Amino acid sequence: MRKTLYLKFLIGYVLFAVFGFITVATFGARMSTDYALRIAARDLYEEAVRIADTYAADLYDSRISLDTAQSQAETLSAFMDTEIWVLNPSGRMVVNSAAAPDPQQEIIVEDFDPTVAQSSYYTVGRFFGSFDSDRLSVIAPIVSDYKIRGYVVIHMSMDRVAQTGDRLLNIAYAMLVVLLFLSLIILLFFTEIVYRPLRTIIRSTEQYAAGNYHYPLSIEGDDELSYLAASISYMADSVARSEDDQKKFIANVSHDFRSPLTSIRGFLEAMLDGTIPLESHDRYLKIVLNETDRLRGLTESLLTLNNLNTRGMLLQKSTFDINECLRGVAASFEQVCRSRDIRFRLVLSGSVLYTEADREKIQQVIYNLVDNAIKFSHDHSEIRLETTEKGGKIYVSVRDNGIGIPKSDQSQIWERFYKSDASRGKDKKGTGLGLSIVREIIRAHGENINLISTEGAGSTFVFSLPRSTVNDDRNAEGELPVVQESAESAPPSASQPSAPAASQSAPPAASQSTSQSAPPAS
Ligand code: ADP
Repeated sequence: MRKTLYLKFLIGYVLFAVFGFITVATFGARMSTDYALRIAARDLYEEAVRIADTYAADLYDSRISLDTAQSQAETLSAFMDTEIWVLNPSGRMVVNSAAAPDPQQEIIVEDFDPTVAQSSYYTVGRFFGSFDSDRLSVIAPIVSDYKIRGYVVIHMSMDRVAQTGDRLLNIAYAMLVVLLFLSLIILLFFTEIVYRPLRTIIRSTEQYAAGNYHYPLSIEGDDELSYLAASISYMADSVARSEDDQKKFIANVSHDFRSPLTSIRGFLEAMLDGTIPLESHDRYLKIVLNETDRLRGLTESLLTLNNLNTRGMLLQKSTFDINECLRGVAASFEQVCRSRDIRFRLVLSGSVLYTEADREKIQQVIYNLVDNAIKFSHDHSEIRLETTEKGGKIYVSVRDNGIGIPKSDQSQIWERFYKSDASRGKDKKGTGLGLSIVREIIRAHGENINLISTEGAGSTFVFSLPRSTVNDDRNAEGELPVVQESAESAPPSASQPSAPAASQSAPPAASQSTSQSAPPAS
């Protein structure tokens, strides 16, 4: 049988009860007898001293007769259920409450030694062979004229002491029973507060282990167990979500690979069987090339996303000028913009603005945002790239006056492979991965990205970056924002010797002297 926590707790409870009774029965019995003996001895001794100071002293000073002393001893002993003696120092019995001594016949306690009690004021035994069974005896001296004239001895039967001890022991047993009863409350508390919630959690985890991630688990309250239940339930939700995501992801990847492959296959087959005449081959081969480009872009985006996810926070941070980065990206898109008469407007905070981030990855973010802005802009429009500083942060925004994003799509555009219906017509090459990459990179930096968009009017993507303290050493004269316009007549690269050469296909990273590795992600 599996030993449940409850069973263990019950065994602990029973052991507690058994050991409790054993302890009370052994140590408790001895302690209560000792205690009863000491209390009885103390009371008897006090009484003996009182008698020695009053009646007995009066007897020796001849203030009362022997008969009076004898009758008083008898009354007192009957009241106290004891035996009271008055002995001479030699041990001769003068008064005996049990039987008045015969004056003709001397009774002597043989070997009487008043120091028998030694340091304590009582002794237990047969009192120099005077009794058949044990007695508790106390001895108090009778002092007169600074001389010991005799002794008052009081005896009590040990059965009476034992009776008192037993009474004390019974109280201890009663207390133990009450205690055990009260500790049942702990057992009930444990059952209700710990055991039942724990059973619920175990039942749920068994369901989760069996793959039923949607099994409901919630425990009321705000203690550790309800927190544990909430965490486990959250974990199950995450696993369920990631399973769903994985399925969706594979379905999307397969779909996005299948369509270009189908079209490539179709064109090649048509060329081979002559459906497409030889003179048209060039045109269709270009389409095939285009499709292969798309497949390559898709693979590279997937690899980038995978690396971002698995390597997580591995960023190569450096201090660099974000303004220069924006100029570089604008320059690299110059040719495609020129063909569609799209102008860049750069509104930059100062001539240089340093941030501390992974340069290559931030370039990729800007590249993806600008690429989207161009794709979804109308011809003859303007794209505005802006940097601002606020509260130790740098804000970079990319604004277009394009088709905008419907409200209903705005939360979904960050998902992998998401492409709005509108974009499918306008952008056949898009993979729907660009913004996922953007968000992963910004998150890896511990920063945020936001979207403000109105359908039909345009979109603005704003993301934050940490502001480098290097900026504090800049020209203290307070630089005004620099506005640049990129057009056929005034390319930004012309004013920036360090900006990369304009190119439609080359990513901004390719123009940096440090690296050539970052391909356009979307
Ligand atoms: P893609 O590579 O297909 O552009 P993204 O992840 O970059 O994928 O974008 C996802 C979707 O978000 C796009 O298909 C488009 O519908 C929408 N989107 C992104 N940027 C813009 C923009 N500037 N204007 C309008 N729609 C946009």
